[in-house]
Amino acid sequence: MSERAAGVSATELIHSDLHDDQHGSPHTPIYNTTTWRFESTEALLDVVEGRTDGCLYTRYGTNPTITALEHTLARLESAEAALAFASGMAAISSTLLAHGRNGIVCVGELYGGTQEFLLTQCADLGIRVTLLMQADQARLAKHLNKPDMLVYCETPANPTLSILDIRALAEVAHQRGALLAVDNTFASPVNQRPLEWGADLVVHSATKYLGGHSDLTAGAVMGKKDFVRSIWRWRKNLGQVLSPETAALLARSLRTLPLRVRQHNHNAMLVAQAMSEHSAVSKVLYPGLPDFEGHELAARQMHGFGGMLSIEIKGGGAAATRVADQLKVFLLAPSLGGVESLVTQPCTTSHHALSPEERRKLGISDGLLRLSVGLEDAQDLIDDLRQALAVL
Ligand code: PLP
Repeated sequence: MSERAAGVSATELIHSDLHDDQHGSPHTPIYNTTTWRFESTEALLDVVEGRTDGCLYTRYGTNPTITALEHTLARLESAEAALAFASGMAAISSTLLAHGRNGIVCVGELYGGTQEFLLTQCADLGIRVTLLMQADQARLAKHLNKPDMLVYCETPANPTLSILDIRALAEVAHQRGALLAVDNTFASPVNQRPLEWGADLVVHSATKYLGGHSDLTAGAVMGKKDFVRSIWRWRKNLGQVLSPETAALLARSLRTLPLRVRQHNHNAMLVAQAMSEHSAVSKVLYPGLPDFEGHELAARQMHGFGGMLSIEIKGGGAAATRVADQLKVFLLAPSLGGVESLVTQPCTTSHHALSPEERRKLGISDGLLRLSVGLEDAQDLIDDLRQALAVL
């Protein structure tokens, strides 16, 4: 599959920032201010009552540094509007609270924090939550039995990389009067743009690829103006906005997103191919490999196959732990999407709280290692994996 530039235009991205016209800065500076002064009460009321756009109070998100970032975030997903948040979970929780009051049906595997929020806080609030395994997605329509429900999913999923058909899910959701929200963190907008396949909202942990350097925590929601506006009220009153400093750092990172993601894709493909030929590896889960179950769907739906993959080590959990501990270039750390390669063993991190039986049902064996392939030289990454696998 060729990487189509259609996903995100690097030119547009680099020039989408709102320039500082006063001093000629090519980028919006950091407005480290919490409030804004007005010439008159009339001018203040024009902003408060929505007759004119203007800055009012940074917690509301009306701060030029944050607004400039949101302008770029909207462009990334070809969305009418975007909101920036202090974390991915802030973006996800406000989205679920704003649009899930009539019930939420999730399809496929979810990030552990999202699942915990759904099964504890949403349940405490009386929100009906249904989790459908990917294999049960044919039952989605049956579960959408009230108006204005929310369908929520992640694709590719963590850590199995399984792929869901966004267009098919959007069709079922819309037939039943529901909205579809997709967590696009794993793919990034360079590789996949769910709104173009019919999703109504996209959420991101910007802590991952959008930030890309493991040095900031942020989140984002993109979608139609009206849908985003109702999420804005939750962000404002829960106080989930990100700081202007973080907004500027994230905006800086976004300028290199297409470049970084293309290299992540390239390196991950080389690592996946090398691992699929290794005698100590029983399985490689990577959407770019032709024998991967979701490969054809991924090739249709995605512009690139991403930087995430999982490998199953022969010999089970203890063997996988030895390999993880032996890696030198891959750092043992539970995040993803940064310039540096990371490794985690899901049974010790993201899926530690589940029983072995629950993990087995999700297709997560104790011998599975999840790799976030970074931007080092691909040969160094392959050599590192080979030397670690040699301990077995
Ligand atoms: N969504 C996915 C797919 C994630 O992997 C994560 C974190 O790992 C999140 C959401 C939550 O993001 P954050 O840690 O920025 O709150």
